Amino acid sequence: DAAVCAPLPVLGRDVLVPLVTGGEVEYAALDIAASAPALQRVWDDVAAYAPYYGSVHRGAGYLSQLSTDLFESSRAEVARFLGCGEGDQVVFTRSTTDSLNLLAAALPADTRVFVFETEHHASLLPWEQRADVEVTYLDAPRTPGQAVETLERALAEREPYANALVCVTGASNVTGELWPVRELAAAAHAHGARIVLDAAQLAPHHPVDIAELDVDWVAFSGHKLYAPFGAGVLAGRADWLQAAEPYLAGGGASRTVARRADGGVDVDWHTTAARHEAGSPNVIGVYAIAAACKALTEAGFEGLVAREQQLVERVRAGLAEVPEVTVLSLFGDDAPRVGVLSFVVEGWNSSHFAAALSAEYGIGVRDGLFCAHPLVRTLLGAESQAPGECGAPEGAPGEQSLNAIRVSFGAGTPDEHVERFVAAVK
Ligand code: PMP
Repeated sequence: DAAVCAPLPVLGRDVLVPLVTGGEVEYAALDIAASAPALQRVWDDVAAYAPYYGSVHRGAGYLSQLSTDLFESSRAEVARFLGCGEGDQVVFTRSTTDSLNLLAAALPADTRVFVFETEHHASLLPWEQRADVEVTYLDAPRTPGQAVETLERALAEREPYANALVCVTGASNVTGELWPVRELAAAAHAHGARIVLDAAQLAPHHPVDIAELDVDWVAFSGHKLYAPFGAGVLAGRADWLQAAEPYLAGGGASRTVARRADGGVDVDWHTTAARHEAGSPNVIGVYAIAAACKALTEAGFEGLVAREQQLVERVRAGLAEVPEVTVLSLFGDDAPRVGVLSFVVEGWNSSHFAAALSAEYGIGVRDGLFCAHPLVRTLLGAESQAPGECGAPEGAPGEQSLNAIRVSFGAGTPDEHVERFVAAVK
């Protein structure tokens, strides 16, 4: 019932693209799940700061001091945005992928990891990089309740263990469906496991509160949160991060370094977030993320969610009128989801369909397997899980392909883009 927000101003609304049918049209950016355009507010804040850019934690000069202050106040802003508590750290990374690889590197020896096969490769694959970590892959559930039951059963079967981690997405990058994060967190904790939330697709669409969801860590990317300047976040419990070897070794992560009498080197590493942030940090990227957090909070998530849900319903209803279209879903057509939907069109190669949306209507969507190959293969009812290239246009025009089309939209999407998309599919 929240008052519906107007679309937030984003960059790129004035980009015109040529159509094969002649003329040009405003580009409809309906692939924000891959990367979202910058919010105008983020761009303005970054532009206002840019002349004052300086090194972070590395200079006595005015601009270094200013940049250091902005970098650290951005950390505090992100911590507020995520509802972090006393024992939490906010580590700045390059992206969600980087954040989850950092956490994988920081796992205590012999941790058991539990992950659904439905995850994006960024949350599916980092754990295998650790030779001493046993990964249990869980089958795709067909209801949120089944997800919780599947996890509980797997945790119980593997007990006892000293340390366990569950990795789960908040909103699927393929179906947009919301996962029962609170319930999965409760199940993990009941079995003495920890849980990390891949919020890459949740944070741009919904408030993410670490304490309220009761998750141990959250990872997300700036470029999907309307802050496309190359930074990401891993936030959550400090203990494993403090105890782990630094993710990158170098300046900034080390408090003191001294030669030893035996000729070697002694390093005293920081135990703060700096431990995993060696090298000169991406202050612009981090500042942009904080600006996006502020802008979304001030705009009000309730109104943003209310409007996005109207767009979801519009797309659902529009696609439902086209008999050749099948919308992909694990939890059923009516399951709650963010503004991310994938579908296939009977008799069409998905890559050709997406190319036609671009060439004939100026609409940018994504086609492929969305870096979630096992999930898409399951959703498409593929007989085999044999490897296929991510996003490869398999098959000829007019021939059904083993990939799908994804449309995604959010806080900056005007109604007209969604209307044009629905009309184009029809
Ligand atoms: N998780 C999910 C659910 C995603 O959608 C993505 C990006 N498509 C990632 C992780 C990885 O994000 P990034 O490419 O920014 O590291």
